[in-house]
Amino acid sequence: MKNVVVGIDIGGTNSVFGLVDESGVILSRKSIKTDSYDQFELFVEAAATVIESFKQEFPETKIVTIGIGAPDANYYNGTIEHAANLKWSGIVPLRRSFEKRLSLPVVTTNDANAAALGEKLFGGAKESDHFVVITLGTGLGSGFVVDGKVLYGKNSFAGEVGHMQFFPNGRVCGCGRRGCAETYVSATGLVRTTIELFSELMIDSPLRDLPTNQISSKKVFQAATNGDLLANEAFTRTAEYLGQILADTMIFSNPDTIFIFGGLANAGELLMKPLKVAFEKRSLEMFKGSAEIKFSQLPEADAALLGSAALAWEEFHK
Ligand SMILES: [Zn+2]
Repeated sequence: MKNVVVGIDIGGTNSVFGLVDESGVILSRKSIKTDSYDQFELFVEAAATVIESFKQEFPETKIVTIGIGAPDANYYNGTIEHAANLKWSGIVPLRRSFEKRLSLPVVTTNDANAAALGEKLFGGAKESDHFVVITLGTGLGSGFVVDGKVLYGKNSFAGEVGHMQFFPNGRVCGCGRRGCAETYVSATGLVRTTIELFSELMIDSPLRDLPTNQISSKKVFQAATNGDLLANEAFTRTAEYLGQILADTMIFSNPDTIFIFGGLANAGELLMKPLKVAFEKRSLEMFKGSAEIKFSQLPEADAALLGSAALAWEEFHK
């Protein structure tokens, strides 16, 4: 029997399941619609059906652990706590419900920490014990590995860079405060910056012809690659904000590498070039040149799944 794990990435819309071996090969992959299960118990039942189907599909394998990455998941308690993007309100007993239903060890963490573990086991951080993974999606997520271990802190919520107050009286954030980093550095932050630039700059741009609710990060990216100066400026500012944030993360975690991951990372050099300039400029003298910024080396489509699988393997080897 070959040992395998199940990685589960629970997202607001879809939940993806993968049967993953120790080298990070996804033997099988399935998904269910998270948002069609109003009751968490019914979701667990549907998930169990998927996992049973993996067993039938690969009878020569033995599932040893289940790793679950989910928004606002608590590593210590195995719970999802007050997740804004999920239908299940309050505190959801994620680990306990899965363990009870499937009689297998289950481990949980939030998606950014899972991404960091994925980078360590299967991506570009195999040789590193000090690195940061920044996920640039709808929000700004971050996972820290310090001295070889994921940083969890007292309540498992350490290293949430996205909610550091970047501009104290700045943009309103989903968390209820103002000026959090993710309101500037994320796909939605880029769009908000673009809209602000309409009034700040006297530059023509095809983006001005769109209703504001139809401006997306993808459209800003397309405009920028077509030479639109306003769209370019939106990217440059986003990169400069991120450069400043990363310069500050150096101060408390001293990584050798910072990996950038998520939808906005697809902007490539449009983001990376000004980011590197800003990072060097903003870094404290003692940190200048000591860390490299790179794009994640996990395939984007599978990164969350591989992160959850990496979490499961790490638990299995403990
Ligand atoms: Zn916030």
